[in-house]
Amino acid sequence: MTTNNPNVSLIVPCHNEAENLSALYERVRNVMESTGKTWEMVCINDGSKDDTLDRLLALHDLDPRVVVIDLSRNFGKEAALTAGLDHALGDCAIPLDADLQDPPELIPELLAKWKEGYDVVNAVRLTRKGETWLKRATSYAFYRFINRMSEVPIPADTGDFRLLSRPVLDALKMLPERRRFMKGLFAWVGFRTIDVHYHREPRLSGKTTWNYWKLWNFAIEGITSFSRVPLQLAAHLGLAVSILAFLYAAYLIIGTLVYGNPVKGYPSMMVTLLFLGGVQLIALGVIGEYLGRIYEETKGRPVYLIRGSTTKSLHDDKHGFE
Ligand code: UDP
Ligand code: MG
Repeated sequence: MTTNNPNVSLIVPCHNEAENLSALYERVRNVMESTGKTWEMVCINDGSKDDTLDRLLALHDLDPRVVVIDLSRNFGKEAALTAGLDHALGDCAIPLDADLQDPPELIPELLAKWKEGYDVVNAVRLTRKGETWLKRATSYAFYRFINRMSEVPIPADTGDFRLLSRPVLDALKMLPERRRFMKGLFAWVGFRTIDVHYHREPRLSGKTTWNYWKLWNFAIEGITSFSRVPLQLAAHLGLAVSILAFLYAAYLIIGTLVYGNPVKGYPSMMVTLLFLGGVQLIALGVIGEYLGRIYEETKGRPVYLIRGSTTKSLHDDKHGFE
């Protein structure tokens, strides 16, 4: 590590966060000043439609520790976060939401655990203010569900807010997958991990871009990234149904032999038909989901594209802002 590199890189994915940025910067600066560490705040503008980029560049002019990376379009939070982690120069990195839902005031606690020798310090939510009970309930269910199926335990009630040491950052860079379920990847790399707890605040300003459709897809993404259980379930279900069908066939054949065939049985035929059709469609859907992932991965497209940035290494090529 060269001496110019900061101790701590804060990674902030920003999508339409113009209203929150100055408050975020102030709070981060105050907290970081108190820690006595050198730091940078890597802000990734993820295709914002408001003046997030201009506000970020203004902050950069004010304080060059604010590094701005502008993606070429909206790639989604996971990709924006990946871009930030790839460009972090610090000895550790802390992803932070731009809406101040992750209180910067917790950072010293994260750093203290890092100093004790932990590589990953998870910030675990004790409460979530400003979220509906439905969102809390579905989130709770999701974590319980995915952990029953996933090969690596994914810490419950932990967002992306956590501390990652340099070895973890380097490990993350080695993961080649395109579709990135970051919470899972963070857990997958392992290393010495510990939790600290906090109370999650409501969003400072603006609106969340998450809705239940996105959350549902996010859940599917997480499950199919980290578990083959649905595929196995499809196979087991198929086997179970086949056995039932076989028994039923035996029953029908013997019944016909013993009692003759009165040509009834329309309801049983329909039930069997519909049941089998349903099971087949579900199994196909599950296979399709995994096939889709293979398709995405084989395309091998980059996770994100950068339009410009304020960082030195990038501004040498002519895509920089300066
Ligand atoms: N975000 C992003 N790209 C997106 C959507 C969101 O970079 O396409 C950022 C957003 O600016 C914020 C963080 O991801 O910093 C969390 O988003 P949000 O607050 O909307 O989600 P929630 O906290 O409701 O889960
Ligand atoms: Mg938020």
